[in-house]
Amino acid sequence: MTGYTTVIGLEVHVQLGTESKLFSPAPVAALGAPNTRVHHVDIGLPGVLPRPNLRAIELATRAALAIGGEIQLYSEFARKHYFYPDLPKGYQISQFDLPLALGGSVPIGTNRTCRIHRLHVEEDAGKLTHSAIGTLVDLNRAGVALAEIVSEPDIRDPREAHTFLRHLREVIRFAGVSDCDMELGSMRCDANISLMPVGSDTFGTKVELKNLNSIKMVQRALEYEERRQTAMLAGGGKVISETRGWHDEIGESRSMRSKENAPDYRYLPDPDLPPLVVDEAFIAAQRAQIGELPQQRRDRYQEAYGLSGQDVTALAQDRKVGDYFETAVAAGADAKAACNWLIEDLLPALRTRHLDLDTSPITPSALAELLALLADKTLTQKTSRLVFEHLLSSVVSPKQAIADLGLGRIADPAELQPLVNEAIAEKPEAARAVAEGKDRAIDALKGLVMRKTRGRADPEVLDSLLRTTIAGNS
Ligand code: ADP
Ligand code: MG
Repeated sequence: MTGYTTVIGLEVHVQLGTESKLFSPAPVAALGAPNTRVHHVDIGLPGVLPRPNLRAIELATRAALAIGGEIQLYSEFARKHYFYPDLPKGYQISQFDLPLALGGSVPIGTNRTCRIHRLHVEEDAGKLTHSAIGTLVDLNRAGVALAEIVSEPDIRDPREAHTFLRHLREVIRFAGVSDCDMELGSMRCDANISLMPVGSDTFGTKVELKNLNSIKMVQRALEYEERRQTAMLAGGGKVISETRGWHDEIGESRSMRSKENAPDYRYLPDPDLPPLVVDEAFIAAQRAQIGELPQQRRDRYQEAYGLSGQDVTALAQDRKVGDYFETAVAAGADAKAACNWLIEDLLPALRTRHLDLDTSPITPSALAELLALLADKTLTQKTSRLVFEHLLSSVVSPKQAIADLGLGRIADPAELQPLVNEAIAEKPEAARAVAEGKDRAIDALKGLVMRKTRGRADPEVLDSLLRTTIAGNS
């Protein structure tokens, strides 16, 4: 035991999936040469006025509702001033004391939730690239719509932070708000962490961690920081309030700036923008657009198909996964079999081929057909794998694939008999052992026939044929 309790709070930025920016008509695009997606408004040229993007407000509202937040009928945009080359206007438009939403929560473990403090809407800054020839400025991202979600300091373990982010990402994706890709920057997280003596209820001095580019990295950085602060406090030292950057390649955080040098942002209500006023009808309309959330879906699958907790968790990880599953089941697939094949075979196979379910060569109905062929024993476990592989690499139906591959099940005793005879001739000692009652010895003979038929022999027909032939011979 270290004698300290860890306290963690997260600040998460989510890029809202809008086509244009928060206050300008410039398109939002991941691609595009630097500085080609920039409107006068994004760089604050004199005489231009921002115009809020309704779609961004809709998506931010859905995000807040999806995590159980309370939408504020009256909120305000504010200017947050700082001077940096990624922000040509000299201020970022954000929300300060009157954010769009308050409250909500995210699960962080069994019977554990982390409360959400607030969700507000703000614009992104540009992107700086530091290179040998100097620093390059790309303003394509400047003005892109973000929602910032600030948690309460309710998290007590880096693993809970990991769980928080997984759940948050899942919910935000389900709500159709953002694709939440941390590697691509459409979800970003700053993590705040402090330690206090076990039993204390006074929080210690916190450190803010930045440059966290994956959920795993958030956990790793917090674990490192937990160790660093523990060592510091145990040695009689003090944690100083600072911002530290995470360097994943060396597994260390390094100080970026102390909070004493934190800028004074001189927040003030943006005089160019009216208050953001929404009504109950707007909120109800957004709620109706969210659709089923992951927990509701898990409950429904458990109820309807009797699947295990692990199965429903895997199926509800992403809306597309569950949708695929439901379509396959509607096409006649057995729920448990469809779940197994989808989670254990199809998804990994698509990942290695850089495909996803939208572009899957195996459609839900093809999977259902494959499962039916397995169920009626046209295919064995082994041949079904070969058909599956074939379907992945060529666009054909399972029946066509069986014909292409010459994989029809061999259940005709006349066709199997010569192979059974050969197997007994090649392994007479195994046949003798079976005749003497050592039943396990039959497996060697079965294996031999399966090899000769490339797994196509019907296991039950083969079993009885082997037994009657051995009995007849002795
Ligand atoms: P600041 O004023 O430094 O921005 P805030 O009170 O706005 O701090 O909190 C920012 C984030 O830090 C929130 O997610 C909050 O939960 C978290 N936080 C606040 N105090 C602590 C603490 N002592 N230890 C860990 N996290 C904290
Ligand atoms: Mg703050």
